[in-house]
Amino acid sequence: MPSKGTRSKRRTTRLIHAARQYTDYGFVNPAVYHASTVLAPDLATYESGKRPYTYAVYGTPTTRALEAAMCELQGAHGCRLAPSGLAAISCVLLAFSRSGGHILISDSVYGPTRRMATGMLARLGVEAEFYDPRITAADLAGLMRPQTTLLFLESPGSNTFEVQDVPALTAVAKERGVACAIDDTWPAGWFFDSLGAGCDVSIQAATKYQVGHSDALMGTVCYTRDAASAIEAAHTELGLCVSGDDAYLTLRGLRTMEVRLERHQKNALKVASWLKERPEVEEVFYPALPGAPDHELWKRDFTGASGLFSIALKPVPEKALHAFTDGLELFGIGASWGGYESLILRFDPHRAGARTATRWPLDGPLLRLHIGLEDPDDLIADLDAGFGRMKEAS
Ligand SMILES: *Cc1c(COP(=O)(O)O)cnc(C)c1O
Repeated sequence: MPSKGTRSKRRTTRLIHAARQYTDYGFVNPAVYHASTVLAPDLATYESGKRPYTYAVYGTPTTRALEAAMCELQGAHGCRLAPSGLAAISCVLLAFSRSGGHILISDSVYGPTRRMATGMLARLGVEAEFYDPRITAADLAGLMRPQTTLLFLESPGSNTFEVQDVPALTAVAKERGVACAIDDTWPAGWFFDSLGAGCDVSIQAATKYQVGHSDALMGTVCYTRDAASAIEAAHTELGLCVSGDDAYLTLRGLRTMEVRLERHQKNALKVASWLKERPEVEEVFYPALPGAPDHELWKRDFTGASGLFSIALKPVPEKALHAFTDGLELFGIGASWGGYESLILRFDPHRAGARTATRWPLDGPLLRLHIGLEDPDDLIADLDAGFGRMKEAS
């Protein structure tokens, strides 16, 4: 049963009621379809190509429900699902790559995006050029070539948190007919309207905040009408599809995402503000924090912030750093983020190949924190004890 008259409602409301047309028998939630084959009543119907579902690779009511909800979230014309955020990124990169072509990628990009570009794309004859995430429109215009097919953004960068001037940069690409894709996993499709800011494609590592519970992997590609044929063709050609269980978990997470994000933001602001005052901390890279790098641009373009940021410590001996991280009780050491629990990891921007267009200006260790839904005072106490251990081991 389609939801009636939700078009005029606010986004919070629309997201709660989205995708009801994929449910049955009055159940609030869609069924989880475990499927491959979909039977047709007769050969003529099978061959007509007119059935809503033909084979589970091309969608089930469960996956269509998630796609519909993501379109509602991002104001998108369409959405396709991929088994991970990285698979979604690869799909988008391949969709807009041509042999002999040139693509522009932000130097702050998620590491595996760079690996895809310098690995598989290079083998296919595509030249990836990395640019300073804070590039001006005029300088970006200077990098555009007749062969340029794609401008790839990530804002803010998920380790170093440079906020890009998305409206200005997409305008440069638009003028030249170059497609724009953005990995904007950090604002989760909620705090930044990337399609409204001129991007043709928005990628979410939905593994993070949409799933929100560190239990499923999911990538989403939301797109405008203009990008539909390129994305849909690449997605179909690659055979990308996801399990009903994972689509279900993602949709379930999405219903409460706004509430969780608000708490992540509140906690992260409290912890980041505390860290900013610590003598051990050189800089806090959290665009929502007044005085942090790119705070003004963040304020102009974003309506809020998620719970992920980095801190640069003043240089410390390696063993003192490990004393800090390894004794933390509440911050787990592990990849990913967006779940309900706090995490910490080191990112080394000086590692060979980590950045190629820009040089990271600080020498101290860079730690990325994901602030979970714990009581922020407990998180602060945990970090405070860590600084105590660090001092003792220095
Ligand atoms: C985690 C992440 C991805 C990849 O998502 P997976 O589901 O882990 O493959 C892509 N981009 C960013 C910014 C991420 O943080």
